[in-house]
Amino acid sequence: MKQLPTEYLGEVDTTLAKPTRIHQLRNSGTTNLWIKREDELSSGISGSKLRKYSSLIPFLKKSEIELVAMVGGPNSNNLVGLAQLLKENSIPQVAFIREPGDKQLRGNALLLDMLLNKEEIRFVPRNQWKDADKQARSFLDQSNVQRTYILSEGCFGIESLAGAMTLSEDILRNEKEENLIFERIYIDCGTGLSAMGLILGLDWLSTAASPKREVVVTLIAETESGFLKKLNLLRSSLEQKSESEIVERTNIRLLKPKLSPKFGSVNKSLFQECRDIARSTGIVMDPTYSVKHYHIAKQDLSSNPSKAPSLFIFNGSSLGILGFQDKLAP
Ligand SMILES: *Cc1c(COP(=O)(O)O)cnc(C)c1O
Repeated sequence: MKQLPTEYLGEVDTTLAKPTRIHQLRNSGTTNLWIKREDELSSGISGSKLRKYSSLIPFLKKSEIELVAMVGGPNSNNLVGLAQLLKENSIPQVAFIREPGDKQLRGNALLLDMLLNKEEIRFVPRNQWKDADKQARSFLDQSNVQRTYILSEGCFGIESLAGAMTLSEDILRNEKEENLIFERIYIDCGTGLSAMGLILGLDWLSTAASPKREVVVTLIAETESGFLKKLNLLRSSLEQKSESEIVERTNIRLLKPKLSPKFGSVNKSLFQECRDIARSTGIVMDPTYSVKHYHIAKQDLSSNPSKAPSLFIFNGSSLGILGFQDKLAP
């Protein structure tokens, strides 16, 4: 089988991007829906993040980066994940965090406070947030360290692509083991890098003889045009690096969430759905991404049924309920 393009994109740490299992969702109310347990990649880091870091961390180490500035909101899964892995790898870090509206330490804000000491946190006032990257850049320039790196919101970048692409390879492994083909794959999207890694990975690994597949993307925090534009940019830069054409073999469909659709927003029905999913499937999903994603994927499956098996990617983590305990309690 064809290999992922790590020779052009950079090395992947396969102890981070490990194989994950799939299993059928028997009580989901839909037939032939399977789930990929990306949550099991880590107990403290959202699954999709760990795949991205599996090429980002080797890149930072190879470049001998001595100081990282990372940018994100107080509830960012990305900052919480990075804080853990950068510490594990002794890469010094400073987080530029958007000043929280809610002063109470809960959820990811609490985890960040536990993981980082005072010198590692800079709060950026909300009215200066659009300049956060600039502030981080000038902080790095003023530090007396030579090799520095800035990680913008969500870690969207070519350094994370090889890691994100490992999902496609691992799904093909699952298919082989279970002796089935997923003609439809549901994945959620923040910056979109994980979904784009899946699509480009499938395209890269496919030939004209491969089964026809559809990737259905739930746009939690991105627009349709933004997603397609970024996907084209990534495809072109991968084509340039590898000096080969990546034929578009995967069909793409973009969905918007219907439950509390605005990114970061929550409401009663969302929490009710979170409880319903737990009781029916036995999985506690994070409300911010996975509950919204699961809700729309199930709706889509009932309005567009598929005869072949479908796969739901659970990119999140049960830890995502940490900030909502008082709202989840009935
Ligand atoms: C961060 C995150 C995403 C978004 O990943 P992108 O690669 O930025 O699209 C999706 N789902 C969950 C649960 C996440 O934590």
